[in-house]
Amino acid sequence: MDGDGEARRPLLSEPASADERSVISHPPVGTEEHDVEQQEDMDPGDPQHFSDRAPWLRAAVLGANDGLVSVSSIMLGVGAGSSDRHTLLLSGLSALVAGALSMAVGEYISVSSQRDSETADVETEREEQARGPAARRRELEELVKIYVDRGLEEELARKVAIAFTKRDPIRTHARDELGIDVDELANPLQAALASLGSFVVGAGIPLLAAAFSNDQRIRLACVLIASTAALLLFGAVGAWLGGAKRIRAALRVLVGGWLAMGITAGTGRLFGEDPA
Ligand SMILES: [Zn+2]
Repeated sequence: MDGDGEARRPLLSEPASADERSVISHPPVGTEEHDVEQQEDMDPGDPQHFSDRAPWLRAAVLGANDGLVSVSSIMLGVGAGSSDRHTLLLSGLSALVAGALSMAVGEYISVSSQRDSETADVETEREEQARGPAARRRELEELVKIYVDRGLEEELARKVAIAFTKRDPIRTHARDELGIDVDELANPLQAALASLGSFVVGAGIPLLAAAFSNDQRIRLACVLIASTAALLLFGAVGAWLGGAKRIRAALRVLVGGWLAMGITAGTGRLFGEDPA
């Protein structure tokens, strides 16, 4: 079995850049404590330690950002092409509902298939163990090689492999060969609900901002200002959770959001019937 330890994704499959995954996914045995010690020497308040424990929170911030950008863009696009208040709010509300449901369904499908393939991988290990002494020897050699690759001497690697195999071969192969923690398989329903909830939080911001004014221009300005503030906030919080530079990340999120809003507003103005 050629498993890839890095392939396991966190509970919410939203954040998936390579460097994020290397931070979130299971580090090789022994390196975690070492890193923590090093960080404490350098800076006791380093937030990177915190990021290991909060991948779901980062995913929630990204989901909220999705809701914010898509709904505020749609509202600015509709607002640029129509001056009707009801149309604006209705389109914002529809975008909120549609986006939240589509995120939830997408997350459910993605996490379910991830879970299915993890379960199938573990099942294959179970079959190997049941196949007989020759297969079990092959599996043991596989483990020895994994530990040697991670830096143990051959003799020690063999001792470790034998000890773990005696205790629980399937759990050991799942963890060290496949990078799967059999006690923490991702839950599709939980992931879907988290996705839905975070999208609604972000999407609610422009919708609320537009709800309290009678003038279309002020309404759109409120959407833009509230969205700008929220983009900066989400960018900074996301960076803080990931231990990245806050200002640069916040500006990146802001520019991305503005691009989406600007292009959608331009499209609305181009195709609108009675531009505001
Ligand atoms: Zn195996």
